[in-house]
Amino acid sequence: MSNVNYFLTEEQQMIVDLVRQITDEKIIPVRAKLDETEEFPWDIMKDLAQADLFGLYIPEEYGGLGGGCFENCLAVEQMARGCIAITTTFAASALGGYPIYLYGSDEQKERYLPEIAEGKRLVAFGLTEASAGSDAAAIKTTAVQDGDYWVLNGTKQWITSGGEAEIYTIIAMTDKAKGARGASAFIVEKGDEGFSFGKKEKKMGLSSWVMALVLL
Ligand SMILES: Cc1cc2nc3c(=O)[nH]c(=O)nc-3n(C[C@H](O)[C@H](O)[C@H](O)COP(=O)(O)OP(=O)(O)OC[C@H]3O[C@@H](n4cnc5c(N)ncnc54)[C@H](O)[C@@H]3O)c2cc1C
Repeated sequence: MSNVNYFLTEEQQMIVDLVRQITDEKIIPVRAKLDETEEFPWDIMKDLAQADLFGLYIPEEYGGLGGGCFENCLAVEQMARGCIAITTTFAASALGGYPIYLYGSDEQKERYLPEIAEGKRLVAFGLTEASAGSDAAAIKTTAVQDGDYWVLNGTKQWITSGGEAEIYTIIAMTDKAKGARGASAFIVEKGDEGFSFGKKEKKMGLSSWVMALVLL
């Protein structure tokens, strides 16, 4: 007989209750206005940061709550009841931050994770290109080592929070001959030399969900 607990722990239930409350009190009242004005939901991001939600999946040693993907999903599920645009802005931040937590060096984790957990700096994830969506291995962005630096060249499109986020996890090819295995992830920061942003995409709705071209 297996001994599986199908129910949420007390801590997980607290996350559900907290996000449900934030959704009702903070998100639902402003979602229509944000959609109209196409404004990035910075005020809501601050509310989510204050509630420590950006640190749900980040270990306690880096200032997070020490949960995982499941805890993040619980938050996303509740938030999505209120506004998909805001939810995806929040969720894409974990998409960019998770690779740093999973595969970053100790130095990178120490440098980036505490500020991400605190919600001080928003993260984005840049994989998609004009000719590479589902077929992620078709990306054309390259990364070439030049002394102590890596030089990245390429254009990413439809990047959630592009231009608004400060930290970007960017996927680039380091060895094309290896196909999908020749791709690597790089941390790029807003303000890095040669790093800029193109036009924001106009969508049919969910307008406070900003997505933009990212140029390397
Ligand atoms: C609002 C929004 C936000 C986004 N944010 C980000 C982001 O933050 N970062 C990022 O990197 N990307 C982002 N993307 C890009 C997203 O990840 C891509 O749109 C997705 O990977 C699909 O790629 P595509 O749009 O090129 O579609 P395609 O890959 O061209 O697919 C088109 C259709 O063909 C189908 N298809 C594709 N290949 C096959 C196959 N082999 N067999 C059968 N069917 C197939 C697909 O299921 C789909 O229905 C975002 C996209 C949107 C719309």
